[in-house]
Order: sequence, then structure tokens, then C-alpha cells
Amino acid sequence: MKEYKAGIYLRLSKEDTNTNNSIEAQRNITLNYAKKHNISVINEYVDNGYSGILDSRPALNKMIVDILRKKIDMVIVKDLSRLTRDKNKTGYYTEVFFPDNDVRLISVTEFIDSGERYEIDDTIMLRGIMNQSYVADISKKIKSVKTDMKKQGKYVEKNVPYGYKKDAEDKYKVVIDETVSDNVKLIYEMYLQGYSQGEIAKYLTKLKIDTPKKYKGQNVTINEWRNDSISRILKDPFYTGKMIINKLYTDYRTKKKHKTSKEEWIFKENTHKAIISQEQFDKVQEILEEKFYKPKNKYEYLLKGLVYCGHCKARMQYKYRTRTKIRNKVLDKPQKCWYFKCRTIYKFPSICDKGHTIMENTLNEIVLNAVKQKLNTININIATNKIADEYRKNDITYREMKLLKNNETKIDNEMKKLYSKRVDEKISIEDFKSQYDELKSELKETKKYLEQLQEKNKNKISEENLKRIVMDFKQGKEFTNEILKQIINRIEVYEDKKVEIEFNF
Ligand SMILES: [Zn+2]
Repeated sequence: MKEYKAGIYLRLSKEDTNTNNSIEAQRNITLNYAKKHNISVINEYVDNGYSGILDSRPALNKMIVDILRKKIDMVIVKDLSRLTRDKNKTGYYTEVFFPDNDVRLISVTEFIDSGERYEIDDTIMLRGIMNQSYVADISKKIKSVKTDMKKQGKYVEKNVPYGYKKDAEDKYKVVIDETVSDNVKLIYEMYLQGYSQGEIAKYLTKLKIDTPKKYKGQNVTINEWRNDSISRILKDPFYTGKMIINKLYTDYRTKKKHKTSKEEWIFKENTHKAIISQEQFDKVQEILEEKFYKPKNKYEYLLKGLVYCGHCKARMQYKYRTRTKIRNKVLDKPQKCWYFKCRTIYKFPSICDKGHTIMENTLNEIVLNAVKQKLNTININIATNKIADEYRKNDITYREMKLLKNNETKIDNEMKKLYSKRVDEKISIEDFKSQYDELKSELKETKKYLEQLQEKNKNKISEENLKRIVMDFKQGKEFTNEILKQIINRIEVYEDKKVEIEFNF
């Protein structure tokens, strides 16, 4: 039998608290093995306090040099994770470096012996993978030290959210920073009033309020609030007086920090004073989520879908100006002034160059007065007879619309089926494309026709509805957009507050 010159490699990492892994224990295990098998140990390589992940391990490097210089031809370890916890690296040593240099590897506690004739052993790779998952376990343990402190309500992070500061007496405690906490309140209040994050940022900048960075004393070239600062403040539950225990986790293999998802968050309640009530915070989250899912269609207003330009017949745009001052006096909070404007002038000035506007309040007043007058003076019987006539005519249209809608669903289903056929490769790309295009154009036609019909009929009022509206009106019920849409077909606006209203009866 060949006489081996062995080296024993011992490593204790900082993370390792298992006494079975102490250098002394490793030494005993490996030396006993060598003695039992009459193996002479030439050298001992000890890395104490070095991680199994990083490569800068001086003793391991020395061992590698000794291997290259043929000083040793056998390596004995307690287990493979002593060498490295990285499965690729384990594979490198066990499959490439050691066999290339004719080194026999023995892992005592895992009963691995590469033997004289080296063969790639799946179990060795498997061990490497196990060791890696072991690292994940350990990283969880280290994390838990910090987590334990957090669970006790201690603030262990370096930075404090805007609006708070560290307690001068206790570095693990956070208190409200009265100098700026009102700004946090303002941000929440404005957002709940319907201001966008961008508008709030502009407003704070205009008031020359220092940004969180600038306030913290960091060097900033432009002291301008940005949307993401506002967004961060609006999303942080810290302001409700609780702490997230597991906001970040560290991947100990890459040493990188990652954010946990909202669903995984664990809270510790009442760790500090709240700036924002839970109720307010929840409302803000609701709005944030809504905005996220449907960014369009954000305004609801009384005359929605009814206001057109009298000249070009185009729909007038609903807009607002933000007023932060009245007669040079800065307002506590900015005010939104909503108005309607014909925007044709920007695109087709030859068609309509009026670009006229009307304030929403003014138009609402004009329209509501006209509606009240109309409802007061109509003869309900004559009106309902007229409507009944219209309704009978429209009956055919409604049936047609129903058919079209059915057709739309049918085509949609066909497209889904076709798509899954393609995914399962039951149909060639060429066939898929031609069939898809056919369905698509059919769908487009159907939709177009349906839209035309809908547009024609959208504002028709039924006999019963009109009766009900008149009754509601007499009982003083308020008008909503839905009710007005049944009464009014369209409102046309000219300059100088001249308004024409087309009723549905
Ligand atoms: Zn116009």
C-alpha cells in the first residue's frame, strides 16, 4: 500500500457555534482517523475564524501550495464543509484540483474516501449542496440575533425614517422629531385629499422645505422633493408606531441584503409614538394600490361624459390648476381649481381655435339650475309617452347589442383556445398567425359596431326611470352623474359661460 503524506485541514468559522466543530474537536477526529489507519500526518492547516464562503483563507492557500509542491498527497477533514460551503467550489476541489494533483481526500464523519483511483462521486457533490443549505440555516441564526432585539422593540438600524430621530438617552429608541414630523402629516393629508405624489413633491419644494436628505445634513445639489421620497413616506408603516422586524434579510452566501415581501412582514406594535393613525395609513395604502392597478380613469365628477365644445363638438377636457397662493398669501394647503377646456386648438386649430374654458363650479350651477327648471315644468305624461315611443324603437337595437356582445365573448374564447394550441405546439406558427389575425379583425369589427350602437343609445332614458327621477327630485334627492346622464344627452359649452343643454326627453 502506498505511503501517504497527509495534511489535516481544520476550520472554524465565526458563525459556527457547534462545539463538535471546535478546532480541538476537529483535530481529535482527524488525528484519530490517521492513527487508526497508520497514516502519517505531515502538516496541520488551521483557519480559525474564517468564513466557509470567502476564499481568503490563509491556511487553505498554504495547503494548496503544499499540494502543488508535492509535500502532501492526502487531505483529511472532519467534513467537507470545512473545505468550503460553496457547492461549486467543493466540486472544484473534489473533482478537479485533488484528482489532478493525485491527492486522496478523506472526510471522516461523512465516510468519504476518494481512494487511490479517483472517481467522480455523486455523493460528494451532494454533500456540497447540503453544506450550502447549511449556510442558509446559519445565516438565519445570525439574523435572529438582530431579530431578537427587534422583537424586544429595540431599534437597531442605523438610519431613522424621516420624521423621527434617535433618542439622545437610548440609542435603541426612536422618538418623534418635532421639527419635521408635521411635514409627514401634511404629506398624508394631501394624498388623502387627492393630490398626486408629484403634486405633493412640487408643493413641498415650493414651500422650500428641506428634503429628507438635506435635512439629515447630506450634501445635495438640488433641494428638490422627488416622487420616490413621498412614496417611501406614504408606504412606511413605521409612521403608525410599529416596527417591521424582518424588512430585510441578508443572503450570507453573497453578503447582499434583500427586501422581504410585504406579505412576509412581521410587526412589533407600539415600539414608538405614531405620527400617522392606522386608519389614515390604511386608507393611503388602499389608494396607492388602486392607483397601481388602474392608473387611468382617475377622476369622478358630476358632469363626466357630458361636456362638449359647442364649436367643434369635441369632448372638453377636465383639468385643474393647483393654487398655492391667493393674492400673494401662501395657502395652508394648495387648492385645486377644476375646469373644462376645449383642447382642439392644440391639435387642429383650423377646426376650433377657441380653447375656451369654464370653471367646473360655474358649469355645475348652470346645468343643475336648468335641470331643476326642466323637471319642474315638464308634463310627466307627455314626456313619458315620448320616451315610450323611443324605447320601442330602441328595443331592436338592444337585442342587436346583446348578440354582438355574445359574439365578442365567443371570439375571445376562440383566441384563447388557439393560443393554448400554439403553446402545446398542436398548430404551426404560420397557421396560428393566420387564424389569429382573422379572429382579431373579426373581433375589431364587432367591437366597432358595438361601440357605435352603445354611443347612440348610451343616454336614452326609460319611462320608469324618468318617473322615478322626477319623484326623487321632488323629494329633494341630490343629482349624481348617473342620474344626470339619464336626463341629459349632452352639454355644449361656448365662450362667456354660454351653455346649451340637450335633454333626453
Ligand atoms: Zn372646440
